[in-house]
Amino acid sequence: MSKTLTIEDRLGIDKFQVDEEHAHIRLNAELCATCATKPCTWACPALLYKLEAGAVKFDYAGCLECGTCRVICPVKGAITWEYPKATFGIQFRYG
Ligand code: SF4
Ligand code: SF4
Repeated sequence: MSKTLTIEDRLGIDKFQVDEEHAHIRLNAELCATCATKPCTWACPALLYKLEAGAVKFDYAGCLECGTCRVICPVKGAITWEYPKATFGIQFRYG
């Protein structure tokens, strides 16, 4: 019988080439501070947005490039989102 993979198992299969010199997603901390609901902290499937002492902390390494944070963010201009440059980013692996 095959084992059901947890989300951590599945994320562990993926491979990331992180561009250390250029963040493909950047936040405007001042605008984020005005965001009442902070939906990025629960909507990101890779759990990259964390709430620490009331402020959002974000690490772009491990991003699945799904675009959820860009779509769900309610504050115009708070997120600058682009795909990683060529050769960087996620490589999905399914087994
Ligand atoms: S949802 Fe957008 S504005 Fe709100 S905390 Fe997250 S990134 Fe910032
Ligand atoms: S694009 Fe998807 S995985 Fe990447 S930070 Fe946004 S919600 Fe998370």
